Amino acid sequence: MTLIRPHAGARAARFFTEKFPGRTMYAVKANPSPELLATLYDNGVTHFDVASLAEVRLVARTVPGATLCFMHPVKAEEAIAEAYFTHGVRVFSLDSIEELEKIVRATRNASDLTLCVRLRVSSEHSKLSLASKFGALPHEARELLFRTRQAADALGICFHVGSQAMTPSAYAEAMERVRAAIVEAAVTVDVIDVGGGFPSVYPGMEPPALEAYFETIHRAFESLPVSYSAELWAEPGRALCAEYASLVVRVEKRRGAELYINDGAYGALFDAAHIGWRFPVALLREPESDVRDHPFSFYGPTCDDMDHMAGPFLLPADVQAGDYIEIGMLGAYGSAMRTAFNGFGSDETVIVTDEPMASLYADVERRVASNVVTL
Ligand SMILES: *Cc1c(COP(=O)(O)O)cnc(C)c1O
Repeated sequence: MTLIRPHAGARAARFFTEKFPGRTMYAVKANPSPELLATLYDNGVTHFDVASLAEVRLVARTVPGATLCFMHPVKAEEAIAEAYFTHGVRVFSLDSIEELEKIVRATRNASDLTLCVRLRVSSEHSKLSLASKFGALPHEARELLFRTRQAADALGICFHVGSQAMTPSAYAEAMERVRAAIVEAAVTVDVIDVGGGFPSVYPGMEPPALEAYFETIHRAFESLPVSYSAELWAEPGRALCAEYASLVVRVEKRRGAELYINDGAYGALFDAAHIGWRFPVALLREPESDVRDHPFSFYGPTCDDMDHMAGPFLLPADVQAGDYIEIGMLGAYGSAMRTAFNGFGSDETVIVTDEPMASLYADVERRVASNVVTL
């Protein structure tokens, strides 16, 4: 069962739209649930980063007023055409001449395109790399920027520092790559898009405050040789939705320090299984257990050995079959990754109003609120 916290999604959206010194686009792949899309839109996020035709159609249908930006650098030609002619998409990203030619063909030489050239940057400060698959290399950037400038109404440069970037310097270093590319190509740039990568809070991963990221990005943007009216964009996925949802699972069996639970690698816990991500957990039992915490690992419900989550997950040592556990911070890349493999998984969702198990935003609001009182 999934617990949904609309107030947490709304709060994150307000935070970004008020404090990020540019435009916030939501990266839909992190969590495409229609309720979340509507919540973000209602709280000021009007632009959506989509990567496939299914995402284009979903957002167009769910939030008809939204602006869509097709930011996958490798697209099917018919997807570009439908996005442009049927859904009014005008912003596309690319990282090769072939893709540029595809976009020009599919839109029949449209003269109203914003084209963002994706540069390859380092993922060294991030927990999940996005550095090897996409992005023009420094020696490719010059010609690509030059050619794209000629085809575009507005020219952008974008990048992605990798997901869960643990330090603002990831962005500062990427912006130095952007500067070098602009200087070398000597083109006028209208948009700088710093992509996603903004972190959330997980056990063992406590990033600096988001304001520090925003300040670093703003400073770097201000010093770039871009056009006077250039815009700054970001595409947060994780940071806007990590706090939005958590999962309630049941312990079906206990074997020593291993708990067999009814969700796993093929459900909402892909990251916990495949990349060893740790999530906060809490035993849901009344009255609360007063036994000391113990480290546990989890097995998911399928018949597959890989359906294993090493954790460690700290739970009271007397946890047993029949107990329910809440696994927090699963709003990003949790339900989005679910499959029905082996017949497991549940679509049941319940809206709750309590606080997420960790938050980058709750403390900020409290801090602001207490400032108001002391003033
Ligand atoms: C995945 C992705 C994002 C979102 O990344 P997060 O790390 O979740 O913020 C943004 N832009 C692009 C192009 C992506 O592929």
